[in-house]
Amino acid sequence: MKILIANLGSTSFKYCLFTMSGSSQELLAKGGFERVTEYTPCIEEMLQTLTDDGHLSSPDDLDAVGFKTVLGKNLSGCVEADDRVLEALDGFKEVAPAHNPAYAEGIRCFRDKLPKVTRVALFETAFYQWMTPAEYSYALPKAWRDLGIRRYGFHGASHKFVAERSAELLGRQDVAERVRKLYIDGPGTFDAAPLRVVSCHLGGSSSVAGINNGVSIGASMGFSPQSGLPQNNRIGDLDSMAIPYVSKMLGLPIDEIERQLNKESGLLGLSGVSNDLRDITEAMDAGNPDAKLAYEALIDSIRHWAGSFLFKMGGMDALVFTAGIGENNPDLRARVCAGLQDLGLTIDPEANQIRGAEAVISTPDSKIKAIVIPANEELVIAREVLRFIQAK
Ligand code: ADP
Repeated sequence: MKILIANLGSTSFKYCLFTMSGSSQELLAKGGFERVTEYTPCIEEMLQTLTDDGHLSSPDDLDAVGFKTVLGKNLSGCVEADDRVLEALDGFKEVAPAHNPAYAEGIRCFRDKLPKVTRVALFETAFYQWMTPAEYSYALPKAWRDLGIRRYGFHGASHKFVAERSAELLGRQDVAERVRKLYIDGPGTFDAAPLRVVSCHLGGSSSVAGINNGVSIGASMGFSPQSGLPQNNRIGDLDSMAIPYVSKMLGLPIDEIERQLNKESGLLGLSGVSNDLRDITEAMDAGNPDAKLAYEALIDSIRHWAGSFLFKMGGMDALVFTAGIGENNPDLRARVCAGLQDLGLTIDPEANQIRGAEAVISTPDSKIKAIVIPANEELVIAREVLRFIQAK
C-alpha cells in the first residue's frame, strides 16, 4: 500500500511517500517546495517526479494521502478528509492561522487532482479526545466555552507514538495494542496493572502529555499551540491579564500583541539570542545571562508539567524524551531529572549521552525509566492512515 504524507506549511509543501505492508514500512521518496503560493503546481510536479522515478506507475497508483491537520472546530480524530474536515478547519482558522487555511487548500487540491485517492486527516488534537470535561474545561463563562474555547492538546501524533513505543519497550504489549486500536475502537475498558507515562515532545514547539494506560489524561498545550512550555518564538503559558495590561501600558493594538506573542516570545523572547536551543546553550556557555534564563525557564516548565501529570496519575513508570531537543540534549535531560532519586528516577550519565537514537537512559535499578524515543511524525501519520484504511 502506497501512502503519501503531505506536510502543508503556509509557504511550503513537503511530502514523504511510504510503502506499507503489515507492520513493515519503507520510505520510498521525500521532497518539498519552499516559497509556495499555490499548491496545485507543486502537487503536479511531485506526482510527475514520483512517476518518473518509478515510485508510482501513475498518480492514481497512490492508495491514500494523509494530512497532519492541527485543529478543527467540533471535530477531531483520524477521519476521512472530506467537507466536514474543511468546515472544521475553517471554523478555527483564526486560532491556527498558519496551518488551517494551508491544510484546507491542500486537501481541496488533492481532491480535485486525485479524486479517487482516499484522503485522511489526522488531527493533532486526536490523542486527547478522551480527556474529561474537568480536564479540558477552562473556567470561563458559558458563552466563551460555547465558542469551543477549551483545552485541546497538540502533538498528538508524536505523543501517541510515544505511548505505543514506550509500552512495547516496557514489555506491556497489552497497552501497546490498546494504543494501536485507539482511533479505531476507542479506549474501551482496561483492567490490567497501570502503566503511567509522561511524554516530553521537546522541539521547535514543545509539549508534555500525561498518558495513563495508553490514553492521554492531559496536555500542557491548551486551546492553541501557543500555550504550555515556552516555544521557540511563541509564548507558551501567560496570565490572561497581561494582555489588557500591556495594551494599556504600551498602547499596543491586539494584532501587534498577537504578533509579538507569536513571533518574538518564547525562547527567543527570553534569550534575545535565537529561537534555536543550540544557539541559546552556546550563548549561555559563553556567559550570556539571558540565554541561561531561557534555558532554565524551559527546564522549569518541563518539570512543572511532568510533575503535574505524575501527581495526577498517582505515579510514573516512564519519562520519555522525544523530538529535536529531547533526543539530542543530554544536559537538559539530566537537569529535568535532577534530584528525583527519592521518587525513584536516577539517570545513568553514560547512557544519557545518546543522541538521536532510542535508548533507556536511567540506571538499571531506577524504578522509573527514562527513555529517549526518536520522533518520526511522517511515519507515525502513515501508520495511522494505514490503520484507518484497514479498519474501513
Ligand atoms: P521542529 O519542532 O521544528 O520539527 P525539531 O524537532 O528538530 O524541530 O527541534 C528543533 C530544536 O531541537 C531546536 O531548538 C534545536 O536546537 C534542537 N535540536 C535539533 N537537532 C539537534 C541536535 N542535533 N543537537 C542539539 N539540538 C538539536
